[in-house]
Amino acid sequence: MSKPLVVAIDGPSGSGKSSTSRGVADRLSLAYLDTGAMYRAMTWALLERGVDLEDPRAIAAAAGDVRLTSGTDPLDPTIHVDGTDVAEPIRSSEVTSAVSLVAAVPEVRDMLVDLQRETIAQSAGIVVEGRDIGSTVAPDAPVKIYLVADAAARAARRAAETGEADTAATELALARRDEIDSTRAASPLAKAEGAVVVDGTHLTLEEVIDTIVGIVDAR
Ligand code: C5P
Repeated sequence: MSKPLVVAIDGPSGSGKSSTSRGVADRLSLAYLDTGAMYRAMTWALLERGVDLEDPRAIAAAAGDVRLTSGTDPLDPTIHVDGTDVAEPIRSSEVTSAVSLVAAVPEVRDMLVDLQRETIAQSAGIVVEGRDIGSTVAPDAPVKIYLVADAAARAARRAAETGEADTAATELALARRDEIDSTRAASPLAKAEGAVVVDGTHLTLEEVIDTIVGIVDAR
């Protein structure tokens, strides 16, 4: 059996990865996996269980009991924790501000990377978005994209999504998350070897999708 086509899309918070990845998957009739949603769902589950998120050992001990399932339809991606639909609560500010702590714990990463690889292997072709897809989860992916946008554009986009009026506060929160994500020891956010950098600062969503579909078609 031939290997599924994997399109890895990594980049910092707010660069437009989710809308872009879903659009690319839809255009190319591929599945879609949002790995950020998995780290968020794990964070939500640990908060529900009252785990101290300042304690990596407590996180590692509790994470093994959390059962995550991801639906991979780009038009209707789903995420469940132990059978409960958590698509909404994982976007709360409580989860958003704690997720990078959970994502820095190596045991959590090992667990979620295994799940991500299983999902990739079961697909006929998939767009996978995250921070470490091209570097760690799918280093053999034939297409790797590193999607960036300048800090002000990312903050404006995220503030519009969340309805937050204070873009300066949003920019600061994004910068804090990027700092933790880029400096952690376990598979930090970084451009993977062989990744093509796409800068969406001055492009519309459709233009970013067109650019990436063009890269996939030209591979
Ligand atoms: O993409 P999103 O903003 O939903 O990701 C939430 C958080 O999950 C990131 O800030 C990062 O800490 C973590 N993450 C990660 N590795 C991935 C995807 C997300 O560490 N592949």
